[in-house]
Amino acid sequence: MNKRGIPPHSIRPLDGRFGAGPSLIRAAQLKKMSTAPQWGTSHRKAPVMDIVRSIQEGISELFSLPDSYEIVLGNGGATAFWSIATVSLIRQRAQMAAFGEFGSKFAADAASAPWLTVDVSEAPAGSVAFVNDGEGDVGAYPHNETSTGATSPLYRTAQELTLVDATSIAGASVVDLSLVDAYYFSPQKCFGSDGGLWVAILSPAAVERAFHLAEATDRPHPGFLDLKSAIVASRKAQTVNTPAIGTLLLLNEQVQWMLSEGGLPAMASRAQQGASLIQAWAENRDYASLFVDNPQWRSPVITTVDLDESIPVTELASALRDAGIVDIEGYRGLGRNQLRIASFPSIATDDIQALLDCLDWVIGR
Ligand SMILES: *Cc1c(COP(=O)(O)O)cnc(C)c1O
Repeated sequence: MNKRGIPPHSIRPLDGRFGAGPSLIRAAQLKKMSTAPQWGTSHRKAPVMDIVRSIQEGISELFSLPDSYEIVLGNGGATAFWSIATVSLIRQRAQMAAFGEFGSKFAADAASAPWLTVDVSEAPAGSVAFVNDGEGDVGAYPHNETSTGATSPLYRTAQELTLVDATSIAGASVVDLSLVDAYYFSPQKCFGSDGGLWVAILSPAAVERAFHLAEATDRPHPGFLDLKSAIVASRKAQTVNTPAIGTLLLLNEQVQWMLSEGGLPAMASRAQQGASLIQAWAENRDYASLFVDNPQWRSPVITTVDLDESIPVTELASALRDAGIVDIEGYRGLGRNQLRIASFPSIATDDIQALLDCLDWVIGR
C-alpha cells in the first residue's frame, strides 16, 4: 500500500468526475467533436444554424413544450441571464426566494438596478425559501440550489411572470413548464457541455414582456442585456454575438442522447438513483449526515454530506484526487466540512457506487 492511502485501481470509478459544473462530458460526446465540420465556420451560416435549430427542437421535445414557448440562446451563462432579466423581464418589482449562493446572487444583481425594487424571502442554506408574497410583477426562485443541494418544488408564483433558475437541474427533472415563464440554465451541468451559454425556455408572456421593456425609458439598454434582440436572433437560429461553437456541438449531442435514452423521465430516474445511493451511504455512516434535513427537498442531482471534523474533507478529497476522483468538495462559500457529489444524468450510477466504495476505503484507513 502506498503511504498516502490512495484507493486501488480495482475499486475506482471508470470516470472520476463528480463535480457540480463544469461536469462530466461523456466520451461519446467528445468523440463527435473532432470530426464536426462546424468548427471554425460562421455562426450565421446553415451548418451552425442547423445545430442551433436541432438544439431548439430537441429541447422542445425533451420538455414537451407547447408550440407557443420559445427556446432562446445567448452568451454569458445563467449569470448573464440574471442581468438580462434585470433589464428585460422585471418591470418594477420582483419577489425572489434565496436559500443559497445562486438565488442570493440573482437577488443582489436585480437589487443593484436603481429602477427596480426587490424583496427577498430567505431561508438558511440546506432548506428552501418560497416566493409567497403577491406584490410585484416577477416572482423568481432557483429550482435547484447548487451550492447546498436543496431543490424547490416547481410552482407558479402570484406575479405575472415566474422566472426559474434551473441551471443545475434542467434535464434531470420532469417538469410542467406551463407553470413558469422563464426556465433558464447554463449547459455545463446536466447537459454535460462547456460553459459560456445560457438557454432560456420562454412563455409567450415572457416574450411579450421582453418586447415591451425594450422600449422602457426608465433604464439603460445595453445590447448584450436586451432579451428582445436575443429572441429575434434565436428565431433565426442565431445568437446576438458569436457563440462558442464547441459548446453548441456538445449541447446538441447531449440533447439528442437524452432523447434517445428515454427523455426526461429516464434522465430523472438515472439522477435519482445516484442521489439515493449517496443518501443511503450517508445515512448508514455514523460520521456522516445529510445536509438537507427535509427529505422532500433533497436534490436528485447534488447531494451534500457533512462529515465529522475527525475526517477533514480537504485531506479526503486530496487522496481521492490522486486516484482520479475530482471535485467532491463542498461549496467553498458554505465553509463546512462537507462533500458535494453530483449525480447528473451523464454520471454512471455504477461510478457513484465505486466512489462511495473509495470513500469507505480511504476513511477506513
Ligand atoms: C452554475 C449555476 C449558475 C451559474 O452559471 P454560470 O454559467 O457560471 O453563469 C447559476 N445558477 C445555478 C443554480 C447554478 O448551478
